[in-house]
Amino acid sequence: MNIENKLKISQKAFNTWKSVPFKEKQQLLKNLAKLLDENAEKFGKIITQEMNKPITQSIAEVNKCALMVRYYANAKNILKPEQIKTEFRVSEIHYVPKGVILGVMPWNFPFWQVIRFAVPAILAGNTVVVKHASICFGSGNAIEKVFLEAGFPKGIFQNLEIGHDEVKNVLENPIVRGVSLTGSEKAGGEVASIAGKNIKKSLLELGGSDAFIVLEDADFEAAAVAGAKSRLLNCGQACNAAKRFIIQKNVEKEFLPIFVKEYQKFVAGDPLKKKTNMAGMARPDLADELENQYNKALKYGAEIILPLVRLSPNEFVPGLIKVKAGNPILQEELFGPLGMVMIAKDDKQAVKLANDIPFGLSDTVWTKDKKRQQFYIDNLESGTVSINKATSSDPRLPFGGAKSSGYGTELSTFALKEFVNIRSVVAK
Ligand code: NAP
Repeated sequence: MNIENKLKISQKAFNTWKSVPFKEKQQLLKNLAKLLDENAEKFGKIITQEMNKPITQSIAEVNKCALMVRYYANAKNILKPEQIKTEFRVSEIHYVPKGVILGVMPWNFPFWQVIRFAVPAILAGNTVVVKHASICFGSGNAIEKVFLEAGFPKGIFQNLEIGHDEVKNVLENPIVRGVSLTGSEKAGGEVASIAGKNIKKSLLELGGSDAFIVLEDADFEAAAVAGAKSRLLNCGQACNAAKRFIIQKNVEKEFLPIFVKEYQKFVAGDPLKKKTNMAGMARPDLADELENQYNKALKYGAEIILPLVRLSPNEFVPGLIKVKAGNPILQEELFGPLGMVMIAKDDKQAVKLANDIPFGLSDTVWTKDKKRQQFYIDNLESGTVSINKATSSDPRLPFGGAKSSGYGTELSTFALKEFVNIRSVVAK
């Protein structure tokens, strides 16, 4: 079926869907959550086969989707009309769904990213079409199928099997009323400029280079376990992975060996085997890019703590490098198994280093001192600040970036209002 016809189906579905009561939509979400859990192994296998994620992590991703869907299935309806006290007989705020919304999605969490965007948009009364990453069309089709099986009418969720060069045409189509993109800064900038030119709402969830700050009074064991996992889960291909480890100078000698020991527990293996904790990267060209970035970092003075070793077109022994402020690699996102260590003498310098990048997604701080915690909460420039735990998205809490990490909010009830028009209704 051609794209124009698919968009027409979405538009037709929207005309009915927008008036379906919130509670009825939530009932379908309950079915969806159940199906996701029941099929977690099957869907997990699709994810692993498409992008190499270790199977246990793929299954966990599908289960986390079910958790998120269940959260929305039970969420409070914050889209009910609100009464405002004025001199008029009626003055109300209505939340009106925009229509057909396009999702442009990445390959790194092939189910999570799509469902994170689609579910609140659909619950708010919109319909969605998704352009998934070119290596994840199988995941996109499986998601479309499971929406239908859960009882959602045809056209509420459709997967478009298109390349990124076709996104412009879809977004320029008058039927499409907004776009949500999760991906790189480059793709985000290009898609948002098309949306802007066509006066359509855009939401961008882009890259990050999150700081993971370890201070002198931290629990070193817990920080080392959480830090290594955060950097190397999904073979280092997560937007909100810890990418820069900023360590207080006076504990560098004590913390680093503990951290390195945890780091070395991640070993590339067969992604379909349950004991594998790290596999290869999603595509060989992404591995080439990471290797180039490693060489660039070294060229500008980075020191090797653990060398990044290429084992095959997709696989590495994870690397760890010590980087000083001013190294141009700090302006880039390292999307793979390569971590950076930086040393700060005090809180002021740690914050300065943490903020001195284009991105602002989710920073982590390890200290037991409440005053110091508050200093970081007040001064870090990221969308999320986590204390004494690795950062991870939680359906109950808003998720979104600052600076070049994007704009707009996903998850929590905030996401329900991203693709609605806020209408004032006034009557004398
Ligand atoms: P990507 O190359 O930007 O691709 C993301 C999506 O955008 C894909 O569907 C891709 O299609 C499409 N795309 C690429 N260039 C485009 C263009 N010029 N016009 C329209 N669409 C375009 O990113 P990725 O490599 O898949 O994902 C990794 C990036 O996503 C990292 O930077 C990561 O930090 C970020 N990310 C952010 C979040 C967050 O929540 N903030 C979450 C996950 C990932 P094709 O596959 O067909 O090229």
